[in-house]
Amino acid sequence: MTMSADAAAIHALLPQTQCTRCGYQGCKPYAEAIANAQAPINRCPPGGTATIERLARLLDREVLPLDPECGREGPAVVAIIDESRCIGCARCLPPCPVDAIVGAQRQMHVVLTALCTGCELCIAPCPVDCITLAPRGSLASVSPEPLASVNLQRFDAHEARRHERKRERLRVLAERKQRATRASA
Ligand code: SF4
Ligand code: SF4
Ligand code: SF4
Repeated sequence: MTMSADAAAIHALLPQTQCTRCGYQGCKPYAEAIANAQAPINRCPPGGTATIERLARLLDREVLPLDPECGREGPAVVAIIDESRCIGCARCLPPCPVDAIVGAQRQMHVVLTALCTGCELCIAPCPVDCITLAPRGSLASVSPEPLASVNLQRFDAHEARRHERKRERLRVLAERKQRATRASA
């Protein structure tokens, strides 16, 4: 479904980490909620004060403090996997909106820190709690935070692959069902 012009303009100002801390399932639904006057402009911790100010200017609204219910503004962080504890279960791969984790089943997984937005979505699914967050600035090799445009591009590609896999699963299931129906006829 396409966004309204207002929602698209709001969406363009959001950091595109898809972290859900605003209480919505990603930046797009939050942008739509703001455009529809269903959400205030101060619910995005990754964007912080700078994003609230940009949204206030765009929408001619008052600047509000970040809603503490959504989290706090802080330094950029990245996810780090403890290699000695990773069991290679791959459960952290699907939740990463920007596909910043690499690794195969039963092999150690690694975060590509240059792509990681620090959204935290990989942490809860890890069954052995071997993913932690570290300030980006504390890494031995510091890379700049990924741009919102890059995050969005990678998220769109992630979603396209997810939908394609789902279509393929449904196609295979439908084929199996047809074969079973023919066999029992
Ligand atoms: S980056 Fe901001 S707008 Fe996007 S999902 Fe996270 S909190 Fe919501
Ligand atoms: S590696 Fe984890 S914290 Fe980093 S972008 Fe992916 S899901 Fe978010
Ligand atoms: S979820 Fe945890 S244990 Fe499983 S592959 Fe990812 S980091 Fe390793």
